[in-house]
Amino acid sequence: MPEMETRLWQINGHIQGVGYRPFVYRMANRYQLSGWVRNKTGTVNILARGEPEMLDSFSGTLVNEAPAIARPVIADIEKSAEIPKSGFAILSSQESHPARIHIPPDYFMCSDCQQELMQPDNRRYRYPFINCTQCGPRYTLIKRLPYDRLNTTMQPFRLCKACRKEYQNPLDRRFHAEPIACPECGPRLVFLQNNVAIKDTEQALQATIAALRNGLCVAVKGIGGYHLFVDAENDAAIEALRKRKPRPHKPLAVMFSDIENLRRTVKLSEAEAALLCSPARPIVLSQKQADTNVSKYVAPGLSEVGVMLAYSPLHFCITTAR
Ligand SMILES: [Zn+2]
Ligand SMILES: [Zn+2]
Repeated sequence: MPEMETRLWQINGHIQGVGYRPFVYRMANRYQLSGWVRNKTGTVNILARGEPEMLDSFSGTLVNEAPAIARPVIADIEKSAEIPKSGFAILSSQESHPARIHIPPDYFMCSDCQQELMQPDNRRYRYPFINCTQCGPRYTLIKRLPYDRLNTTMQPFRLCKACRKEYQNPLDRRFHAEPIACPECGPRLVFLQNNVAIKDTEQALQATIAALRNGLCVAVKGIGGYHLFVDAENDAAIEALRKRKPRPHKPLAVMFSDIENLRRTVKLSEAEAALLCSPARPIVLSQKQADTNVSKYVAPGLSEVGVMLAYSPLHFCITTAR
């Protein structure tokens, strides 16, 4: 049997808030390595002990098999004399200064979460704060680094038993998902109108949809800011918004739940479609369809309209309402 050795990696790049440490944990188990992985303000350190061949393979996966939204860079690998305890561990973060800072951005809802959001028997069915290691808010929640739940605005929400189990299970897709939440333990939606508050999440969602249907304007607090929402097919609602804003002529953007719906409103080119689905989820200008139901007051006198996809579960729940 080849002699065991220990190596220490320093990983830089885009690795905070993307499920990188859980991924390292899974890879270490795949190659039967002992050791640990730890966040160190902006970088990740990995200490692993095993057969040299296994360590080589492990090292390769650290970049090649990393989670889709991660961009790791191996900054350094060195041999170490340390002999770690058996098993592999995710250690709590170690603060150090000066910080090599990469603050993770907010991410659009991933397809796995979107599926759960629509499954009536899922415990996060229609829960507008669903997220995982591959999606959800990051930048908006972070109060200080390193990126750990205790350093975010999620800190006051104590995890329920079911969420804690997911958070602690290396095989779960929410393993160490710092903003993990569910209807039982996470934030709730509140709807406010004329000083009356509706505090039940589903009722608040229904009240929002009803208000929009009735031609009202709703200020929706999303990730990182507010959107003023009105029904894009309702001329009077758009005019009222323009008057109150005041924004008499400037075009407004239209949000859609999915790209199929969006195609009914604009003649989407392939390049535009790719841009719409890119991680930044931008507003894209596209040629209007002749027979669109979207009000002419959205972009008065223009042949193009700005369109965007719902990027958070809350926006998704609102835009999918029938
Ligand atoms: Zn997700
Ligand atoms: Zn929970």
